[in-house]
Amino acid sequence: MPYQPVIGLEIHVQLKTKSKMFCTCPNNPDEAEPNVNICSICTGQPGTLPVINKAALEMAVLAARALNLKLSEESKFDRKNYFYPDLPKGYQISQYDMPIGLDGYLEIDVPSHLSGESNRAARGGVRPKGARAKIGITRVHLEEDAAKSIHGSKTGETLIDYNRCGTPLVEIVTEPDFRTPQEAKIFLQELRAIMRCLKISDADMEKAQMRCDANISLRKTDENGEFVDAALSPKTEIKNLNSFKAVERALEYEIKRQTKLWEQGKPPRVQSTRGWNEQSAVTEEQRVKEEAHDYRYFPEPDLPPMDMGEIIAKTQSELPELPIAKRKRFIDEYGFKNEEAKFLTSDPSLAEFTENVISELKEWLASLPEVEGDAEEIYEKQKAKLAKLVGGWICSKLQGIMTDKKIDIKNLKITPENFAEFISLIYTNKIGSAAAQKILAKMAEAGQDPTQIMEDNELGQMSDVKEIETVVQDIIRQNPDQAAAYGAGKTALLQFFVGLAMKATEGKADPNIVKVLLEKYLKEK
Ligand code: ADP
Ligand code: ZN
Ligand code: MG
Repeated sequence: MPYQPVIGLEIHVQLKTKSKMFCTCPNNPDEAEPNVNICSICTGQPGTLPVINKAALEMAVLAARALNLKLSEESKFDRKNYFYPDLPKGYQISQYDMPIGLDGYLEIDVPSHLSGESNRAARGGVRPKGARAKIGITRVHLEEDAAKSIHGSKTGETLIDYNRCGTPLVEIVTEPDFRTPQEAKIFLQELRAIMRCLKISDADMEKAQMRCDANISLRKTDENGEFVDAALSPKTEIKNLNSFKAVERALEYEIKRQTKLWEQGKPPRVQSTRGWNEQSAVTEEQRVKEEAHDYRYFPEPDLPPMDMGEIIAKTQSELPELPIAKRKRFIDEYGFKNEEAKFLTSDPSLAEFTENVISELKEWLASLPEVEGDAEEIYEKQKAKLAKLVGGWICSKLQGIMTDKKIDIKNLKITPENFAEFISLIYTNKIGSAAAQKILAKMAEAGQDPTQIMEDNELGQMSDVKEIETVVQDIIRQNPDQAAAYGAGKTALLQFFVGLAMKATEGKADPNIVKVLLEKYLKEK
């Protein structure tokens, strides 16, 4: 491509502290009843004084640590002045020149189909296949959220709900290091996983707990993919992106739009702001952007500069295992595939559930009379098979049930112990896959243990050879023509007989035993 996209993100994440950023109001931005969590401070009454929420400072420092920033020993708040009805003070308390942290990075996986020749980076040239891209983080700072404007659909009036006003936000600004919309999306997904792992936000974009503005410009490249001119072109900022998909699609749209402008010889000469219109799938011009000095930032006179030493020291040992490291461990230690590991570690509760399932599973397997060795040995030997079972059943079937029934992993009725027992029933061929699906659905509903459900509903797999033998012989007797055809070389008919046997046993016969017996008796015919 003769034009290389240059993309940088500005992300706001709501912190889930108990109280708001500068007052003691409950921090519950999604409270249904409007204007109940408010006080004279967060509604901007004259003469009130803000008080810094220390928990929010700690969370912001944790976020900055996870993103490898240089932490500021001294930090301060500044006023960002602007008028809008959702911010009654006339200014937002934010941070300007002494943020929580500066100059960090986050490494992301470059999608393999995009890496290599087609994905040249401005700094560092080609991103080799399977490589990780190092995305620079410019800064992390803390600020307060504004109120929610609710535009009345019928009457045209605008209502304001101040419950959200004063919710703590961390703002994360990246360097313009993304080269494709997919990289931007992957970064945001990684960021969500980190916020959840740190337990500082659920970072759900659909709920506006994580919000993103995407900045994009194009640069001309020569036939080798090298930049013709090292300077960046004026950027376009896209607002109102409230899902991963929207970020990706809006950026793809902008690349097309701007490419056309470059081809017509009239690339964007000034910065501008556009909004993403989800319905029509286009970006629309909003305004030409203010420069920073328009906000006339100045130090917040009501809040003294902060010595961050204590919090920096305290949070040093509080950084948990981050999603990237956890993912690697899930692959190396448990034997999960990359995609499964990614999904299983995307949420700390799900990751914990999975780890507990595996540890219970090891115990279960060790206690089974038909398996030999100690728990670790058995798992190690059967790793690939067990990981495939656990990963498959959690990532597809269990996830499907949870999505269908709107169950969150946190209130899932299935205990890791019962899930491990369920996996071991499949592993030891006590239940077939059709029965397993029924059992899992019932487990999610009632929280019973799977063996109980299997027995109560007679869902156990028929693995008694004598019993299956009878069924198989009956079927061959009832279908002499097909049996003869099989004998004459039409071996594809085996599947026909397997189908009949499974039907006759209501899906309960062990299909492997069925196959072996059918082959034996059909040959004998
Ligand atoms: P502003 O002064 O308008 O806030 P910044 O320099 O602070 O601009 O950058 C804001 C965001 O835009 C950052 O994420 C940055 O990486 C990105 N950005 C800056 N310049 C460009 C550009 N020319 N093209 C694409 N993104 C850019
Ligand atoms: Zn308040
Ligand atoms: Mg800026």
